[in-house]
Amino acid sequence: MCGSRRTNQNFFAKPMSELKPLSKSQRIAFILRRLQELYPQPPIPLQHEDAYTLLIAVLLSAQCTDERVNTVTPALFALADNPADMAKVPVEKIQEIIRPCGLSPQKSRAISVLSSMLMDEHNGQVPEDWEALERLPGVGHKTASVVMSQGFGHPAFPVDTHIHRLAQRWGLTNGKNVVQTEKDLKRLFPQERWNDLHLQIIYYGREHCSARGCDGTVCEICRTCYPNRKKPKIVLKP
Ligand code: SF4
Repeated sequence: MCGSRRTNQNFFAKPMSELKPLSKSQRIAFILRRLQELYPQPPIPLQHEDAYTLLIAVLLSAQCTDERVNTVTPALFALADNPADMAKVPVEKIQEIIRPCGLSPQKSRAISVLSSMLMDEHNGQVPEDWEALERLPGVGHKTASVVMSQGFGHPAFPVDTHIHRLAQRWGLTNGKNVVQTEKDLKRLFPQERWNDLHLQIIYYGREHCSARGCDGTVCEICRTCYPNRKKPKIVLKP
């Protein structure tokens, strides 16, 4: 479902055929301003109480929607909401609870081993450290980025397939993978906006710019950035 057709009035005072695409710096300024207007204080989508419950929720969200994770975590955290308690829960029990999230054998093992590692190596705390986070089972760079950003407030730009898709549709990257897209977005946007901006892009994608096909001409950001766009923007899958 595409969003509102309401656009920058001054910009669209001219006929569309006379308008030039915005330069990259104009696109960046427009996107920053518009997303801030639309989502001034974007909430963190995964319910959590602290860095540990956020880490577990992010791990569960791999190839699963945030909505589904939020329906599963209350039962899991009622059983154990800290590494000490979770390390004592049989893996089979964790797997049974998290089954709706998919990949439950791998995710339940990772949750169990990760919780023991936190007890053995980090005094029961989630480490506020990139390398230590990425050494934990089931925790890749994107999960570590979410925890560093949303859990600890460090500047990070977690890029998932949705952010990758929007960044391409908005002409911000030609990256063939999320690694390149993350590099490009970090270079283009001011660091102090990264933590809110990645959430704002996620919310815009959910409301207006789904993975289903779009010809790249129907809603405000594309119409403003590319007023003469005629052909669909081809998105390279990561
Ligand atoms: S590709 Fe552009 S026009 Fe299409 S939904 Fe996304 S932002 Fe809107």
